[in-house]
Amino acid sequence: MRTNLPKLLVLLAVTLVLTSSSPAKYDPIKSQFVVVLDAGHGGKDPGNRGGGFEEKDIALNIILKVGKELQKNPNIKVIYTRSTDVFIPLDKRAQIANDAKADLFVSVHCNAHNSQAYGTETFVLGLHRNQANFEVAKRENSVIFLEEDYHVTYDGFDPNSPESYIGMTIMQEEYLDQSILLADFVQKKFTRELKRNDRGVKQAGFLVLRQTYMPSVLIETGFLTNTSEGAFLNSNSGQEKMADAIYSAINDYSHSINLAVLENLEKNSSPKIATQTVLDDNFEDITFKVQLAASSRKLEPRSSNFKGLTPVFREQEGKLYKYYFGATTSYSQINQLHSEAKSKGYKSSYVVAFKGGEKITVNEALKSQGK
Ligand SMILES: [Zn+2]
Repeated sequence: MRTNLPKLLVLLAVTLVLTSSSPAKYDPIKSQFVVVLDAGHGGKDPGNRGGGFEEKDIALNIILKVGKELQKNPNIKVIYTRSTDVFIPLDKRAQIANDAKADLFVSVHCNAHNSQAYGTETFVLGLHRNQANFEVAKRENSVIFLEEDYHVTYDGFDPNSPESYIGMTIMQEEYLDQSILLADFVQKKFTRELKRNDRGVKQAGFLVLRQTYMPSVLIETGFLTNTSEGAFLNSNSGQEKMADAIYSAINDYSHSINLAVLENLEKNSSPKIATQTVLDDNFEDITFKVQLAASSRKLEPRSSNFKGLTPVFREQEGKLYKYYFGATTSYSQINQLHSEAKSKGYKSSYVVAFKGGEKITVNEALKSQGK
């Protein structure tokens, strides 16, 4: 018990920072974390109708429940692309998110297949690696046929033509890494806490993600065409559970990239809030690192390539190279390194945690010490 005490103090300090924000002390507009919640389809576009269920209704119900939870946090601002049963073109959805300068775009859908396939999958924008992923993107993109000027609006994009998808990923590449981080959190919540079947984090060319200028994911919550999964998703309790998982994934994500409000509170230097002064916060079996960037480019991890920061480490994950700054078991030290990275211009860098070589959320890392 004695050894856990310092960790509990850290937890307490973290909790303090996260809960003691008084709206009067900072500009709420600048410090809020803006999440755009996008319920797929709507109005004349029902989405898929597998099992006789309506995708547009289920997606909206889940989204509204996610929003309701997020809105309880004054540091988070929620914007819906639709909150009723209306038709919103795909490009308009992205525009709403861009106009709001959102920090995150989350689109919710339901899958369909001509088999009894089931499970959840979360997509980030990219080139599909197989036909199955392409089919999902094709189906979700085909809603543009319901728009009058889709030829003009989407510059000749043809959802059914593989050629149309080439070169689609460029704009989102900058945010790919953070999108994957969120997608990973979402899938983990679905599978670890709700025991849904994990179909994984995937890439495909979704038009709705193509033009957003922020980390963006599209969640396929499950298959309406699967008898039991369809019934689960159509039920109020199923929707509550899925919404809760998505909500807590967004919450973990926002903590991982360090809420803007934290910076604001630090700037206001309230004496009560002092994460940096916690002395003994050694998390023995956890390694914290600051993720600076992820790229398909292979750079030498020397300080001259990273604005003078040192030490920088490079790790390969699939096709991407990830670049990390620092490696420490101390949570306060990693926060200091994170501040240093941001001051050098790595504004979208964030803290990641590893346990036994596996990436876990920072929340999980902090909580793990209490056990
Ligand atoms: Zn859909």
